[in-house]
Order: sequence, then structure tokens, then C-alpha cells
Amino acid sequence: MGAPLVLDGKALARQLEGELATRVEKLRAADGRTPILATILVGDDPASATYVKMKGNACRRVGMDSRRVALPARTTTAELLAQIDALNADPDVRGILLQHPVPKQIDERACFDRIALEKDVDGVTSAGFGLMAMGERAFGSATPAGILRLLDHYEIALAGGHAVVIGRSPILGKPMAAMLVNRDATVTVCHSKTRGLPELVAQADLVVAAVGRPELVRGAWIKPGAVVVDAGYHPPGVGDVELAAAIPRCSAYTPVPGGVGPMTIATLIAQTVEAAEGRSRGRS
Ligand code: NAP
Repeated sequence: MGAPLVLDGKALARQLEGELATRVEKLRAADGRTPILATILVGDDPASATYVKMKGNACRRVGMDSRRVALPARTTTAELLAQIDALNADPDVRGILLQHPVPKQIDERACFDRIALEKDVDGVTSAGFGLMAMGERAFGSATPAGILRLLDHYEIALAGGHAVVIGRSPILGKPMAAMLVNRDATVTVCHSKTRGLPELVAQADLVVAAVGRPELVRGAWIKPGAVVVDAGYHPPGVGDVELAAAIPRCSAYTPVPGGVGPMTIATLIAQTVEAAEGRSRGRS
């Protein structure tokens, strides 16, 4: 087998940002207003702070503004809900990102679900998930929607293939599975109680690893010719797949870093621009 295709999320994100900058400029020319993405960070988790900073930087690169709301770790659910209400009511704020995870005392689901549907550019609300799963208009969860954009860009065929998604979190595994079903893949969703994970992965034409455990998915499990998407990132630079052993077997893969991460941010920004333009994506 020849060298596998590298699904270069960094390059595609850069290309997307170029297109988005033009659209932001058009919006500003139309009504003199710069769209704003509001980011909410609760507590002082350094990784979360880095992600929020990267999202703010991406806003600036495309000419959008970001408004940073930083709340202390002791914030209550009621206080966070009040912040979200204020951002929902502000017409200049086109999108709201609540950085996951929030401290344990906060009801994260209640807070996600308080985000107005038209400002849910990170695709975290139950209502948005439901609409997306039904194939109706809604912003998809940013990471799986970014993965789909990347697969589409490289014309990876999904219909009829067997996709194995490892992880069932509300922001990644579950929406990824729904998006792939909507695209006519046959989907198996695995989680911590799944029996026989290696045998299931070995059947996959497309593997999406969203587990949060370094190199849990072993390279030897990968079916020769499969496409491998690795959403994980663990410093200093490994993912949820044992990529060094998977690369000689697969036909295409996302590098870590430079695969899924940049596409998540680019998708968040793209969906904020779409929100400012007054539309949300249709069937994902
Ligand atoms: P999460 O909420 O912790 O979910 C992890 C999922 O993996 C759960 O569904 C869990 O099963 C499952 N799991 C855990 N151990 C397992 C095992 N031994 N076998 C099979 N399944 C197992 O994590 P997440 O937020 O979805 O994130 C997943 C990964 O993606 C992480 O590496 C994270 O860093 C990465 N991520 C990347 C981006 C990005 O932009 N690049 C964004 C978000 C997340 P249960 O449901 O049974 O507990």
C-alpha cells in the first residue's frame, strides 16, 4: 500500500478562514457592525483557557470580534445562566461559546440549553442536537461538524460504509454518530462498557476515536485501508489512536496535532459567520 493520505485540518482551516474573512468584510460593509463571538470560560483550567484564547485569536484572524467572559471557579448555575441570558439579549453577539467542561457544581446541561438556538454556534444545545439528528436546520456540534467538513473536503466516501465511533459524549461521539447516519454510513457507537472493542474497530471502514485516553485504539486493530480520524490530543502530542502503528495500515488519517483541532475552531468561526448572516446549516 502507498503512503496514506494526510487529512490536513490545519491547511483546510486556513483556507476556510480566508473565505470567512471575505464574508465578515461583506457583513461589516452592509451594516457597519462587526459580528461578535462571546466566549465564556468558568474557572482556571489551563487547557480550557488555551482553547478559549485560540478561538478568540481565530475570530480576530477573520476580522470578527470576540467578547471574553471569564468567571471564577466558584460560579453557580444561576450566575452562569444570568450571563448567558445577557448574551442572548445582546444583538451584537452572534454566537455564544461556553467552554466545556465547567466546574462540577454547575449544571452544564442546563447552561448549554439556555443558549439561544440561533446563537448556538458550537452546537451544544439539546434542541440543536435534536434538529441536526432529524436532518433539520441547526448548527452541528463543532468538533464532529469539523470532522465531516474535513472528510468531505478530501472526498472520503461515507455512504454504505461501516463507521465505528469510539465515545458517546454529547459534544462529540453522539453527534458524530448522528451526522454519519444522516450521511448514510452504517454506524457502530462504542463506549466504556462496550465488549470486544478491538474486533469492532477491525470491521470499520472509518474509525473516529473520541475517547480521551492516549493511544487507546491500537494500530493493529485498524483494518487495512480504513480511514482513521483521531479527535484526541494529549501533550506532548499523541492522540486517542496509536497513530505510528495505524499509519502503515490505513488509507487516510488525521494527524495529531493539525487534524481535528483546527477544524473544530474553523467550524465554530464559520457557524458564527453563518449566524451573523442569518442562516444555519441544513442537513449535515
Ligand atoms: P468524554 O466526554 O470524556 O467522553 C469519552 C468517551 O469515551 C465516553 O463516551 C466514554 O464512555 C468513552 N470511553 C472511555 N474509556 C473507554 C474505553 N476504555 N473504551 C471505549 N470507550 C471509552 O470526552 P469528549 O469530550 O468526547 O472528548 C473525547 C476526545 O476528543 C478527548 O481526547 C478530547 O480531548 C478530544 N476532543 C477534541 C476536540 C478538538 O477540538 N480536537 C474537542 C473535544 C474533544 P462512557 O460514555 O461509557 O463513559
